[in-house]
Amino acid sequence: MGLVDLENQQKWLFDATPDMHTQLAALEQYHLKKEKIIEGIFLTHAHIGHYTGLMYFGREAFSKKNIKVFAMPKMKTYLTNNGPWSQLVSLQNLQHDSTMVLNNRLDVTPFLVPHRDEFSETVGYKIESSKKSVLFIPDIDKWSRWERNIIQQVKKVDYAFNRRHFF
Ligand SMILES: [Zn+2]
Repeated sequence: MGLVDLENQQKWLFDATPDMHTQLAALEQYHLKKEKIIEGIFLTHAHIGHYTGLMYFGREAFSKKNIKVFAMPKMKTYLTNNGPWSQLVSLQNLQHDSTMVLNNRLDVTPFLVPHRDEFSETVGYKIESSKKSVLFIPDIDKWSRWERNIIQQVKKVDYAFNRRHFF
C-alpha cells in the first residue's frame, strides 16, 4: 500500500512486496514524481511476500537516499541477523501501539496481530491524518484470535484494507 502526501511532497510504502518495483513506478506515475523515490517503507512481518522487495535497494541506496525502513523489534533482529538483509542499514524501531509522527499531517501506529510468527511478530497499521484514517492489516490468522474486535476497529476508521478483503 502506498501513502502519498501531496502537500508535503512525501510518500511511503507499507510492505516491501516482490512487486515493489512496479508499485514504486505506479506511485511515481500516478501520484507523486520527485527525485527521492520513497521516504520510507513500513514492514509488517517476515513472510516472503512482505519484505523481499527490499532487494531492489542496495546498502548504498538506503543510506545515500536516506530511505528509512521501519520494523518491529523481532523483524529488525531477523533482518539484521540474516543475509543479504543484514547489509541493509538504518532500520528504524517501531513499538506496539506507539505512534510515529511522519510529518505535520500524518501519524502511523503499528499494532500486533496474530499470525504465523515463525521469524517475526506481525503488525497492522493505523494511519491517521487530520481528515481521514486508515486501517491496514495485510495478514492475520483469524479475526477471532485478535485481542481487538475487528468490527469496532473498522467502525473507527474511514477505510480498512486487508489482503483478501475490503471492509
Ligand atoms: Zn504472512
